[in-house]
Amino acid sequence: MLRTSLLAAARSPLARKAVERNPLTRSVVNRFVAGAHTPDAVTATRALVDSGRAVTIDYLGEDTTDVADATHTVDAYVTLLSALADQGLAAGADVSVKLSAVGQALPGEGHKIALENARLIAEAAKGAGATLTLDMEDHTTTDSTLDILGELRQDFPWVGAVIQAYLHRTLGDAHDLAVAGSRVRLCKGAYNEPASVAYQDKSEVDRNYIRCLRVLMAGDGYPMVASHDPRIIAIAGELGKGRDFEYQMLYGIRPQEQEIIARRGDTMRVYVPYGVQWYGYFMRRLAERPANLAFFLRAMTTR
Ligand code: FAD
Repeated sequence: MLRTSLLAAARSPLARKAVERNPLTRSVVNRFVAGAHTPDAVTATRALVDSGRAVTIDYLGEDTTDVADATHTVDAYVTLLSALADQGLAAGADVSVKLSAVGQALPGEGHKIALENARLIAEAAKGAGATLTLDMEDHTTTDSTLDILGELRQDFPWVGAVIQAYLHRTLGDAHDLAVAGSRVRLCKGAYNEPASVAYQDKSEVDRNYIRCLRVLMAGDGYPMVASHDPRIIAIAGELGKGRDFEYQMLYGIRPQEQEIIARRGDTMRVYVPYGVQWYGYFMRRLAERPANLAFFLRAMTTR
């Protein structure tokens, strides 16, 4: 119930204003977001790389309804990739892109505009020596996102995608994507989805996660295990013995565990969000975990 309300608020302009205008929100946001500008993302990347972790960087923004905003997002990624290259940080780095931030949600030509914009980012990533992963958003965008993935992979075979264990369709998608060269991030899923398309019960989502993980680990692609769940991390360690795969976690969540995994020699990639449009991302993090919400509410009520 609380999760549903927070996820509904994540898409409400009114709730957005109330949260953004509260000056006390900032301190909590800083725990999950690396900063507002390119140099902040570069600084966070430097610290993570120095501690043995890899990064995937997200320029925050989603549900863009304006072509100019979509172009601005592309420019931000191009600037970021060039800054990473200048600092010697691009090799091995990845950028995560939400297609709705580069035009997918625009009426009429949205799919085409998102494809063209994602292609520009892929070209910049190639030039810098980095990779690109397409984030997955709500289920109404899944087909369009996987189509764009297929188009991009013809020219940039290292472009990766995300599948969400809470969707009924995902086991089939896992089979389709477990092919040579295919980078696939498996997560539980962060949006408010109806029972017609998604498992509602947490234990069912977890069971489907493991089913999909088995398929990815048995396939020829490159699995990216995105979870903070200790049980899933342990199972991935067992299933992935002797093969290439990586763990992924979000910036600011379980940082000690991230360091432990990196220190033992496994690839640990941290998802680093930055930018001023942090609202939707932040609300999804609150919805995931009551402790995150409690931390937020404490900061709101104490100085
Ligand atoms: P949860 O069920 O949230 O947590 C399971 C357990 O993990 C908890 O019981 C606890 O033991 C531990 N845990 C979780 N959080 C904490 C914490 N703060 N401190 C300590 N322990 C904790 N979702 C999408 O829909 N699309 C995407 O493209 C996408 N990309 C992602 C990329 C990355 C790298 C990651 C890590 C997540 C991404 N997500 C995405 C979000 C994902 O779908 C989940 O909403 C989110 O990761 C929470 O699920 P979880 O697997 O961590 O498990």
